[in-house]
Amino acid sequence: MHPEWRRDLWVALSVAAGGGLAGSFFGHPVGGLAAALGLLVILLLTKLARLHRWLARGRPTPIPELGGLWDEVIREVHKGDRDSERHKERLTGLFDRLQAAASAMPDAMVVLTQRDIIEWANPPAERLLGLHAERDAGARIVHLIRDPAFGAYLAAGDYHEPLILKGPVDPLAVIVQIIPFGAREKLVIARDITHLKRLEEMRRHFVADVSHELRTPLTVLQGFLETFADLADAKDEETRSAIALMREQVERMRRLVDDLLSLSRLETTPARAHDEAIDMAALLKSLSSIAIALSAERRHLIEVEVEGPDLVGNVEELRSAFTNLVQNAVRHTPAGGTIRLSWHADAAEGRFAVTDTGEGIAERHIPLLTERFYRVDSDRSRASGGTGLGLAIVAQVLMRHDARLVIDSALGLGSTFTCVFPSSRLRPASPPSPLAPSAV
Ligand code: ADP
Repeated sequence: MHPEWRRDLWVALSVAAGGGLAGSFFGHPVGGLAAALGLLVILLLTKLARLHRWLARGRPTPIPELGGLWDEVIREVHKGDRDSERHKERLTGLFDRLQAAASAMPDAMVVLTQRDIIEWANPPAERLLGLHAERDAGARIVHLIRDPAFGAYLAAGDYHEPLILKGPVDPLAVIVQIIPFGAREKLVIARDITHLKRLEEMRRHFVADVSHELRTPLTVLQGFLETFADLADAKDEETRSAIALMREQVERMRRLVDDLLSLSRLETTPARAHDEAIDMAALLKSLSSIAIALSAERRHLIEVEVEGPDLVGNVEELRSAFTNLVQNAVRHTPAGGTIRLSWHADAAEGRFAVTDTGEGIAERHIPLLTERFYRVDSDRSRASGGTGLGLAIVAQVLMRHDARLVIDSALGLGSTFTCVFPSSRLRPASPPSPLAPSAV
């Protein structure tokens, strides 16, 4: 038994025994005992009232001295209070340090609730995202970051790839990453990539400028070589083959320069600038004529299929992309093979496909084909007039038309390159004319 308990018990017993003795002395032992117990209850109630007052005042120090077991109880309560106070201080300190660290970061950080409401933001969020920590807490983030790309990114729920956005002021560019945590809450992180964008732009301009500058000297060289070819002594085989080789190489350089210029134009001009409805039947017909001309004496069988609504886009860009696919099919299909050009569109999507029965491509190369200058067989590509930029141009054009390139191929069996366009890129079917006779 606890010593304090023992003391209190002794006091209680002594009071009871004293009351009993006094009662028997006066001839009423039970009455004496009752009086003693009453006294004891009054004593207990007095201490309980002091304890209650102390608790109700928020357990201030100094702690009251009630004696006996009461002091033990009060000390235990006080100790628990001190422990939880210390724990709270430690947590508050940790939280303050975390907040200070998050505020010192150069990146913007925003905590969103399950309903995408701003709960907390660090100071850089103001510069990078235009969000003010205090003013905007409690607002929906999509009401403040108004770029539709951000709204779509947030709603899509797939945050594996980051998103590049324009910052609140020009020329700020930010890369945004969303990290879900807890019970569907989100952390939005934004980093300043203005300098990277600037470097990327400088690279693009440099390539475009160099390509442009090379054009004139190449045209001059080409002109002189043509003249030399005409003048060369028909019997001087060596001179003639040297001139032929030079002309071939100059022509290759010209094609490279043209492709580089096309690519940089695609990268620098805004998309959707010249969108129009494209007559797909006519486009595929002209592509089949190109295929026939390129095939020449190799006599490929060219097939064409067209079905469904037309495509909406930039006709020059799409013609150049589709021509690249046709050129590749002719280039990589042995004489007599079949090349099929098809357009199939329905309410869901439109698919332009070029299928060949050519050499095919090993699976490991397929993900790399749209990279600049990637070739499965460099010598063969160069010999057949390829620049290694054709599929990079195709990918760029498709990106500008919200489309994607799907490549199916099997070595020795042939390949299918399919450009898949979303329904938003299809010409809506024209509503039936009110005057047209309706089918019965
Ligand atoms: P290139 O100018 O070399 O054709 P591309 O970017 O157009 O460059 O194509 C990249 C590579 O993809 C080519 O070098 C070739 O190896 C491969 N390729 C493209 N189309 C086909 C095809 N229809 N059949 C087989 N291989 C192909």
